[in-house]
Amino acid sequence: MNLESVSSLPEMLEIWQKTLNWQPTNQQQNQFEKLYQLIIEGNRNFNLTRITEPEEFWEKHLWDSLRGVAPKQHFIDSLHQGASIIDIGTGAGFPGVPISLIFPNCQVTLLDSTLKKINFIETLLNNLSLTNAKTIVGRVEEIGQENQHRHSYDLALIRAVGTASACAEYSLPLVKKGGLAVIYRGNWTEEENQSLENAVKQLGGKVELIEEFTTPLTNSIRHCLYLRKVGNTPVNFPRAVGVPKQKPL
Ligand code: SAM
Repeated sequence: MNLESVSSLPEMLEIWQKTLNWQPTNQQQNQFEKLYQLIIEGNRNFNLTRITEPEEFWEKHLWDSLRGVAPKQHFIDSLHQGASIIDIGTGAGFPGVPISLIFPNCQVTLLDSTLKKINFIETLLNNLSLTNAKTIVGRVEEIGQENQHRHSYDLALIRAVGTASACAEYSLPLVKKGGLAVIYRGNWTEEENQSLENAVKQLGGKVELIEEFTTPLTNSIRHCLYLRKVGNTPVNFPRAVGVPKQKPL
């Protein structure tokens, strides 16, 4: 692989500090750089992401992935304590891979229904020597009904996989009582609140926080929806493959 031909990621230490009260170590910065180079290289063979310019990659993939697990600008406590995490519809590994790089005590499961993407992530994990992350190929509607995964995770993360109520149905069944599902969104409107509240209630959760923020380089609006698991999810959820999307709760 020719790593010389691609430009480098910016460090942005002041912005990390200002927005997340945190900065990457030199080693973490090197890992970010390696991740970037591997994704750019992988993109030549597979159509993984449209976000390839260094600053855009930094903002939309690295910063955005970590900002989602830092509501009110502080990382969620269970991340420091070694949480079990699932990233649903991880694609090229976002938000799960940056989180597993920064929190080596966490166990991160990266789930996607596309074998080609999961194969790519396997090479990524090997190249980055990331031993705290593993992959699964499958549909979340089926994984969410398996005993091994259901009610098993402290944190379920989901970015760009569907409507908020479909994402709630995909994520909450996988979360332990007391754990959190985090839905990463671009826009969010008041009208969407009601259907989300309704879906979350049926799934054994409650809407704990909806946070709006702007990204630090392009000032784009983002939202993260934090859903707390307060009860058990009834056995009929998630519904069969395709149903959460076609007939949202
Ligand atoms: N989360 C990544 C990100 O934000 O960059 C990728 C988002 S991509 C638009 C959506 C991904 O979700 C795709 O890789 C797709 O294969 C996966 N996906 C969609 N529906 C799924 C399902 N029901 N179960 C598992 N993965 C799914």
